[in-house]
Amino acid sequence: MSDSSYLDWPFFEERHRSLARDAEAWAAAHAESVHGDDLDRDCRSLVQALGTDGWLAHVVAGRAYGGAGETIDTRGICLIRETLARHSGLADFVFAMQGLGSGAISLAGTPAQKERFLAPVASGRAIAAFALSEPDAGSDVGAMACAAVAQGDDYVIDGEKTWISNGASPTSTSSSRAPASRVTAVRRASRPKARAASRPSSSKPRRRDWRSPSASA
Ligand SMILES: Cc1cc2nc3c(=O)[nH]c(=O)nc-3n(C[C@H](O)[C@H](O)[C@H](O)COP(=O)(O)OP(=O)(O)OC[C@H]3O[C@@H](n4cnc5c(N)ncnc54)[C@H](O)[C@@H]3O)c2cc1C
Repeated sequence: MSDSSYLDWPFFEERHRSLARDAEAWAAAHAESVHGDDLDRDCRSLVQALGTDGWLAHVVAGRAYGGAGETIDTRGICLIRETLARHSGLADFVFAMQGLGSGAISLAGTPAQKERFLAPVASGRAIAAFALSEPDAGSDVGAMACAAVAQGDDYVIDGEKTWISNGASPTSTSSSRAPASRVTAVRRASRPKARAASRPSSSKPRRRDWRSPSASA
């Protein structure tokens, strides 16, 4: 057990202390040493376990959509993440990535998008992603060239993305080229419009081709 005296700091409330204790107990029981030969399988089972046991509810805003509260509690997220990370880097990664995808929809999604995507992410039935980085645009968000163009009832996403964690999973959000406060494109497993062509096998960024049909998770 790590030093948890920081929980007495004034900006934590009793609900945070309780959350941290629960997270510690859960992680010790479920997340310890989850890292076998099949990384994808381990990630999927962690998503399901975190969803089933209620932890992913914390990355979704709105109780109507499966969230733990009406807004995302950043202090709670920090406590859950540091606890998961101490037990399993993979568990923290899974938790953080669900939040990267659901955070954008929680903050700026339409009611229909929230209805459709947030509850599955909160329950662990859907895997989320967030596709910002491109070969020529990382920190420099204004240099993004990928565009989401409305075509009938769908958006066609045209461009290249790179380094997209969970990019081959069935449900993901793209921030694309638009005001930062808007979720501009959401693709679905049932009618995928893009695919991740390859998984980077080294620590160097590789280009991903997002122009042809997709993978499933
Ligand atoms: C394991 C992993 C997973 C990732 N998953 C995702 C994901 O899921 N979705 C996603 O969108 N991206 C993802 N990324 C991409 C990551 O977020 C990018 O690496 C990041 O956006 C930085 O972009 P870049 O690599 O092009 O670096 P650059 O933007 O080129 O920056 C290079 C360096 O220059 C510095 N720098 C940049 N601009 C300035 C400035 N104005 N002033 C001073 N210094 C500056 C940066 O701090 C950095 O040190 C992932 C990366 C990794 C390593």
